[in-house]
Amino acid sequence: MELEKPIYEGKAKRVYKTEDPARLIVEYKDDATAFNGQKRGTIAGKGVINNRMSNYLMQLLEEKGIPTHFVRELSERQALVKRVTIVPLEVIVRNIAAGSFAQHYGVAEGIVFDAPTIEFSYKNDALGDPLINSSHAVALHLATPEELATIRDYALRIDAILSDFWAERGVTLVDFKLEFGRLPDGTIILADEISPDTCRLWDSATGEKLDKDRFRRDLGGVEQAYAEVMERLRRHES
Ligand code: 5GP
Repeated sequence: MELEKPIYEGKAKRVYKTEDPARLIVEYKDDATAFNGQKRGTIAGKGVINNRMSNYLMQLLEEKGIPTHFVRELSERQALVKRVTIVPLEVIVRNIAAGSFAQHYGVAEGIVFDAPTIEFSYKNDALGDPLINSSHAVALHLATPEELATIRDYALRIDAILSDFWAERGVTLVDFKLEFGRLPDGTIILADEISPDTCRLWDSATGEKLDKDRFRRDLGGVEQAYAEVMERLRRHES
């Protein structure tokens, strides 16, 4: 679909208005950035995979009772979504130590937790998305205590649903980042995307990384990893 100028252009997506003020179009790009924009590159075909995967997983979550912004897929790179005000928190759920958790606490990647952990980062590029606790988030009016309780509940339910989903496909869901938004009536719904850009996905048999860490860490085979994880998702599609 040919569109007018985007109302917002981020690192991996463009957002467009539609005739309906309650709906937006999200368009996924192949551009990739890491480390708060310090590393830049392109992952050929990523936009198509992230759009399709995110749409598929949001539909799955809706079926399981989690409200999301997804309305329908418009094309291979575009989705129609509900307009929300984004809650400026990155909600990170972890099942296995990796990435910044392993760094902060000086533990090896791969330690499996007894129960998932949840943490929040303040979405603020100028500050480098710092970790924030829930009372600070409330003090800064980023979210109310009730909203945080809803977000926690959804995030842990999403973890359970997606961990099972990927396990059936031979993929381990290590950790992931979610963003939530508010509808005009204040309802909290899942927004943003769920993709190999926002999740750590490891091959359950080999431990091979099938996500954006291949780009972040210069591991090579980035496009192949995205294609492989999409193929795993499709394998059980019917
Ligand atoms: P970490 O805090 O270990 O770097 O990231 C934890 C999880 O959240 C990983 O799956 C990572 O992909 C995701 N994540 C955290 N921050 C961001 C971010 O700013 N952008 C994206 N795309 N994913 C993030």
